[in-house]
Amino acid sequence: MDVYAIPLRTRFRGITVREGLLVRGEAGWGEFCPFSDYSDAESAPWLASALEASERGWPSPVRDSVEVNATVPVVSPEQAYELVSASGCRTAKVKVADPRVSLAEDCARVEAVRAALGPQGAVRVDANMAWDVDTAVKAIGELDRAAGGLEYAEQPCPSIDELAAVRRRVGVRIAADESIRRAEDPLKVAVAGAADVAVLKVAPLGGVRRALEVAEACGLPCVVSSAVETSVGLAAGLALAGALPTLDFACGLGTMSLLTGDVCGESLSPVDGRLPVPPQAPVPDLFAAQAAAPDVQAAWEARLTRVRAHLRMS
Ligand SMILES: [Mg+2]
Repeated sequence: MDVYAIPLRTRFRGITVREGLLVRGEAGWGEFCPFSDYSDAESAPWLASALEASERGWPSPVRDSVEVNATVPVVSPEQAYELVSASGCRTAKVKVADPRVSLAEDCARVEAVRAALGPQGAVRVDANMAWDVDTAVKAIGELDRAAGGLEYAEQPCPSIDELAAVRRRVGVRIAADESIRRAEDPLKVAVAGAADVAVLKVAPLGGVRRALEVAEACGLPCVVSSAVETSVGLAAGLALAGALPTLDFACGLGTMSLLTGDVCGESLSPVDGRLPVPPQAPVPDLFAAQAAAPDVQAAWEARLTRVRAHLRMS
């Protein structure tokens, strides 16, 4: 059992160190890394995804590489400009609506990102459910002006009904992320007219095959995003992006740069804004450098045992 602990470059989702566990099976390696606040029930699909990768492998891809977006956390406009310029990506996703910053600061960061990408680039924003409907309508309008046109606004509000209400009142595409993961029936998002784009993450959906079923059921254009995994987990996201019948938007899989290190020498970091679709996860040959402390290892091994029992019951 290989448990890693890798510091993040910038605080993300309130965490500063990413932890997870690597499993090896007949088909190769898989990564199990639900966030620490996830229950055993919520973590079960993450384990199913890791076991799909390690024991079964993935369906055949229909493309051999995938365009990815740069991710811009809550940083200064200057840092945002530098980050996007250095990324080589033509699309950038800007995290907005953080309680520590104002809408004016979000707009300044979005403007800097547009300046870095030029007029041909695409700027999207992600509010992670932070707004109510009226706040979202106002903020999306201002951010759209600051960006000189947004590609889409991701999960402005928590509920499907709110997304639908916002979507009726703005001229910007709405993407559903948390709503897809939490929905009992992802079809609801499309039927409710709540989104133009679906964001899919392999691990919380329970694997590449299950995510392909969700893509088909929701009937919306899809974007594949990571959960800030190491290259082992990112490979599963690339397998999904590689296997989707159509892929019209850059994917959120260029997230290696958010971590200070990787478990693989063959790291899945984008070159010229693209990543290859690998046949299986790369081998974690640099694991020793990222190994977690013994108490963290023990906690993850106990968690694995509990979630395994949960998966067997479900
Ligand atoms: Mg999101």
